[in-house]
Amino acid sequence: MVPSHPDDLRIGMEQGCVLDEDAPYSSWPAAVQRVWSITHARRITRELTFCHVVGIVLCLACIPLDSVTGVPVVGATLRLGVVVPSYLIGIWLIRSEHSLLRLVGAVAPVAGFAGVVSFIGTQTIVEFSDRYLMAATMMVAMAVLLLPLRIGASCWLSVSGFVAIALPFGLGAAVDVDIADLLLYSLVCCTFPLLFKRRSDRLRDQNFILSVKSRQAQSQLLKINKELENLSQMDPLTGLLNRRGFEKRFSATFEAVLASGEPLAVVLLDVDHFKHFNDTYGHQLGDECLAKIGALLNSEIERHKGIAARYGGEEFIATLTGSESANAVSIAERVRKMIADLEILDTCGNRIRITASFGARIARAAKLRQQDFVRDADGALYAAKANGRNRVVLYEGRDKSPLESVGAGGAGSRRYGARVPPQQSEFASSGQEQRS
Ligand code: GH3
Ligand code: MG
Ligand code: MG
Repeated sequence: MVPSHPDDLRIGMEQGCVLDEDAPYSSWPAAVQRVWSITHARRITRELTFCHVVGIVLCLACIPLDSVTGVPVVGATLRLGVVVPSYLIGIWLIRSEHSLLRLVGAVAPVAGFAGVVSFIGTQTIVEFSDRYLMAATMMVAMAVLLLPLRIGASCWLSVSGFVAIALPFGLGAAVDVDIADLLLYSLVCCTFPLLFKRRSDRLRDQNFILSVKSRQAQSQLLKINKELENLSQMDPLTGLLNRRGFEKRFSATFEAVLASGEPLAVVLLDVDHFKHFNDTYGHQLGDECLAKIGALLNSEIERHKGIAARYGGEEFIATLTGSESANAVSIAERVRKMIADLEILDTCGNRIRITASFGARIARAAKLRQQDFVRDADGALYAAKANGRNRVVLYEGRDKSPLESVGAGGAGSRRYGARVPPQQSEFASSGQEQRS
């Protein structure tokens, strides 16, 4: 991609050189020069247009002076017939895409104006000739200083301005002044401002490089911050969201289902007798086991466009929305079976069976607060544990709506009335506890 904005630039090894802010413009890679031009193009065009308009006003304001110096006809004709049109053409040319045309548009009207003033000076009486020449010289000097041109273009302005001033005198116009002295003075005045121009160019270029570098550093910082934020929301063992990441995603999901009126399901999963598993087979195999459960949960829940996360320790959480939420119990039931079928081998190659218990809560978001979903799912999980583990229990509460009955009662799944202690609640039994 060809860069066109400072943010696209990678000033460093990628540009083929390590660009220091003191590096002169001529040593910049073409891409950086190009971005400099694009970045400054509008400002330069605006400033040049302003300077050209000032040139036209100055030219017209000097017409009465030509009457005083005795050349009203020549003055008015040249100013109105040559200078003003050349400035207008210049204003049009500086908007061109072509750099040479832009250069001509910027330089030619100024040099033309200086040449015309110088020529009028050769036509007037001797006392006024040198004043015209000095006025033309000062005009070129001021233009070199004030026009927003780089040093190269300023040199062209300086040289062409001086040539335009010198030409009428050099062509042998009958002027009785000490031409050599005046032209030398004119040459010095036209070229001396180039030193200041070079200095201001350097400062502007340094500023540009520093600003690009600082924007680059800023965007890198933002990128790193984003990566850190993502990392702070991930669980490294399972690759799932951690609790913090889950809370953030869940809040956004809750807002969305609240607005759309869709139902929401929250499922909590806890690995059964995992302490015993760790004590028997070691934490390393325990970690492996959690990673496998995480991967399994992730692929199953992602398929149903839900959120899966590690809620903490050996507990996982998942949410499902819309039509998928009605299937929450059957999805949980499938995951329960898949966990029971997981291939986990001890050091001797013997298969270890592992199981998990599930608690689910399904309701329309408007009926509950966000934290109530997790609280009720936790209650159902508690019931699943209390009633034999390795099963899915759906919280039904006191307000049994048709939605909340959906999906409940499959093999291995139970229903749990929240306000009723687990032992007394209505459980349709199936599924067996498996000791790990
Ligand atoms: P229950 O069926 O009632 O859930 O019994 P449990 O043993 O699974 O529950 P308990 O809360 O007594 O123990 C949880 C265990 O989970 C304790 C801890 O060693 C283990 N655990 C938590 N986080 C990790 C982990 O990141 N890696 C491993 N290997 N074990 C973990
Ligand atoms: Mg636990
Ligand atoms: Mg457990």
